[in-house]
Amino acid sequence: MKTKLEQLAIFGKKPSFAEKMHVGRPNIGNKGRLIEYINDLIDRKWLTNSGPFEQELEQRIKDLIGVKHCIAMCNGTIALEIAIRAAGLTGEVIVPSFTFIATAHALQWQEITPVFCDVDPVTHNIDPARIEELITPRTTGIIGVHVWGRPCEVDFLSAIAQKHKLKLLFDAAHAFGCTYQGQMIGRFGNAEVFSFHATKFFNTFEGGAVVTDDDNLAAKINLMKNFGFSDYDNVIYIGTNGKMSEVSAAMGLTGLESLEEFITKNRQNYQQYQQELTDIPGIKLIPYNEGEKNNYQYIILEIDKKAAGVSRDQLVEILHTENVLARKYFYPGCHQMQPYRAYYPHAKLLLPETEKLTQKVMALPTGINIQLDDITEICNLIRLIINHSKEINHHLDKEIINPAIN
Ligand SMILES: *Cc1c(COP(=O)(O)O)cnc(C)c1O
Repeated sequence: MKTKLEQLAIFGKKPSFAEKMHVGRPNIGNKGRLIEYINDLIDRKWLTNSGPFEQELEQRIKDLIGVKHCIAMCNGTIALEIAIRAAGLTGEVIVPSFTFIATAHALQWQEITPVFCDVDPVTHNIDPARIEELITPRTTGIIGVHVWGRPCEVDFLSAIAQKHKLKLLFDAAHAFGCTYQGQMIGRFGNAEVFSFHATKFFNTFEGGAVVTDDDNLAAKINLMKNFGFSDYDNVIYIGTNGKMSEVSAAMGLTGLESLEEFITKNRQNYQQYQQELTDIPGIKLIPYNEGEKNNYQYIILEIDKKAAGVSRDQLVEILHTENVLARKYFYPGCHQMQPYRAYYPHAKLLLPETEKLTQKVMALPTGINIQLDDITEICNLIRLIINHSKEINHHLDKEIINPAIN
C-alpha cells in the first residue's frame, strides 16, 4: 500500500522506516544480568511476598532518592490508589486533567471526585495560581503530576496545601531519576508515586512504588498492599493486593544498573532532536532544564498549526503511515474521557490551557532502542511534511486521510 506522501507524489529526501518506530519502546538493561537474577529467584523458589529482590530494589531506590520509605508495588495505578487511601483523601481532590487517565481513575475508583485544574501552558504542569479557586469544604488534597518528568512548582503547591490543611501527593510516574531544585523527586509532599510500567524511563515490566518520609503512612501502605496482614493469621486493616513480584524486582535491579546509560542515551536523542528540529517552522520541542537532573524520556512537540501549515493531528496521521508511531499526548484530556465527560460536560470551560495543549502536543520516539540516524530521518520526514503542507491540505480538502488511525 502506498503511504500518504507517495500518493501525493511527495518524495523529496523521504526516508523509509521498514520497522515501526514507536513511542515507548522499553529500556531494558543487561540481558545476561536479568537472566542470572531470574535463575536465582527460580532456584530460591521465592516468587513474591517481599522477597529478597523486592527488598533490595526498595533499598536501592531509597538510597537513590534519599527517602525513608519505598514500598514497591504491582503497578503505578494501584500504588496511586493505595497512597490516596492511606493518606486519607476523601470528597474532592484537585488534579490536572492534562495527565494520563490513571491519575483521575485512581480517585474515582474510590468514589473521590477529581476536580480538574488547568495547567500552565509553558510547563504543562498544574497551575498553582488556579488551585485556590477550586477548593471547597469537601476538598481534602491536591495531586500534582510531574508531566514529562519536569517538576511541578513544588514549593508553591506545598504552601497552598499547608495553608488550607490539604494533603499533597505527587504522581511522579514520569519523573524517576529527575530533580526539583537539585533534590530527587520522590522527597516531596506527603508521598510520591512512581510507575515502572514497560513504557516508562525505568521499568519492572509492570510495577510502581510509593516513596515517603512519613513512618505512619508507610506502615499503612505496607498493610494495604498485602490485604491488611500484619502477621501470618492477623488481618488488622482493609487492604488489597498491590505486591510486586520477584521477577519484576529482578527487572528493576537490572534496570537500575543501567540507569546512567539510559539517561545518557535519552539525552543524546534529545539533543539530536533539538538540532534537527530547529529550522522547521511551527514546531517547538519542549525543553528540559539543564540545571536539573532529567531522564529525558519524553520528546514532546507543540505544533503551531498556523506556522507549520499542518495540524498536530495531520502530522501524527501522516507519520503513522510512514511507520513512525508518534502519539498525541494527553489526548483528549481526562475531562473529555468517561465517566468525567458525562459527569462534568462543562469542565472544558474552566480548562482553556488544557484544551489547547491537548490539540497541539505530541510525543516522538526515543529511548535506548533508537539510533541517532533514525532521529535525523524522523526529523527529515517532519520537515518534508511541513514543507509540503500546501499540497497536503489541498488533498485533505477532498478526503480524510487514513481514518482507521483515529
Ligand atoms: C503510566 C502512568 C500512570 C500509571 O502507571 P501504571 O504503572 O501504568 O499503572 C499514572 N500516571 C501517569 C502520569 C502515568 O504516565
